[in-house]
Amino acid sequence: MAQFELLARCHTTRARVSKLTLAHGVTMLPTFMPVATQAAIKGLTPQQVDALGVTLILNNTYHLGLRPGIKVLSEAGGAHKFQGWNKNLLTDSGGFQLVSLSKFTTITEEGALFESPFTGEPTMLTPEESISIQHAIGGDIIMQLDDVVASLTPDRKRVEEAMERSVRWLDRCIAHHTLSGRQDTQNLFAIVQGGLDFELRDRCLTQMVERKNSVAGFAIGGLSGGEEKDIFWQIVRQCTEKLPEDRPRYCMGIGFAEDLLVSVALGVDMADCVFPTRTARFGVALTHQGPLNLRLAKYAKDFQPIDATCPCPTCTEGTSRAMLHHVITRETAAAHGKLSVTLHNIAFQARIMGGARDAILNGTFPDYLRTFFANYFDAYPEWCVNALRSVGVDLVGEGSNVKVVPGSGAKWE
Ligand SMILES: [Zn+2]
Repeated sequence: MAQFELLARCHTTRARVSKLTLAHGVTMLPTFMPVATQAAIKGLTPQQVDALGVTLILNNTYHLGLRPGIKVLSEAGGAHKFQGWNKNLLTDSGGFQLVSLSKFTTITEEGALFESPFTGEPTMLTPEESISIQHAIGGDIIMQLDDVVASLTPDRKRVEEAMERSVRWLDRCIAHHTLSGRQDTQNLFAIVQGGLDFELRDRCLTQMVERKNSVAGFAIGGLSGGEEKDIFWQIVRQCTEKLPEDRPRYCMGIGFAEDLLVSVALGVDMADCVFPTRTARFGVALTHQGPLNLRLAKYAKDFQPIDATCPCPTCTEGTSRAMLHHVITRETAAAHGKLSVTLHNIAFQARIMGGARDAILNGTFPDYLRTFFANYFDAYPEWCVNALRSVGVDLVGEGSNVKVVPGSGAKWE
């Protein structure tokens, strides 16, 4: 099983630094996992990703199961060999993609019934099948199949049913995984459900923590579905409070810098999102001064790099904002400019998380948060102020003239 070693705790917030040792090496937490949808981060080589210091990426089981398919992956010796990635890899259960991408999905106690995108035939994904597919892929961390409901579902009965079923499916995943004898190299994570309901979350947490000895870590699922951010952070905080100290905590589907840093302050260790790579393809570069939309005309004559302090090849090899603007707006087929922004954005995510780790180790994490917010926002999102205040960090102390606004507060220029 994975080795999880707690190295340091923030004296003020719940943030912590830990060392997670898996079959393909050490990953320092907290970390952000880039998403490699079809066994590749779009347009990047594994070497480019590796060179940015990324040691853990996420592969989508649903996409890999379709293309190249489990048979090809098995023949290749798993997804690590298939994609030439020799660091750590996490696979999702396939359930979420299936529910969001399949034309129809029916959830029964047995599993998720969906229409095969190839044959149109009804196909069943059971908890056991999900684990078997993830065994063939060979991820270092594998996820339980859970019963996913949208976070804004108004039907409490359905949220409760999904939560209880996710616990039962966890037991089936544990049993199937245990039988396989792969626990030494592949580590199963449970996924806490219960929607935006504190009571349901609490019941799920109690039941899943009871199974602690059979799982290597816990994920917080069912968020990032457009819910109010003030509810989002309170659910995250409730989960991190009750999850065991000696297991990694993974908040699924978050990638905005402020979401990451607030979650880390609340005690989250891992996160993933398609946002940084997807937004790069639309010409948005992430920086400590906020995101830059490189499509805007004002960058046509801006000859500085995206960020002079960034160690990524795009910034260090002299590519200017003007050049990127030119490529993105005129040569949509030319992948180079887009690729470069993708590489830069992955580097940015790695830097803010690496910076958080250093600050926690040095005992300066509250200052790190204050500096980050001061640089990144003109007006602070109210929910961030509330969330950080709950763990002892006041972003807007007395006499501060910072503007606090409802909503995201993000500047996108
Ligand atoms: Zn860069």
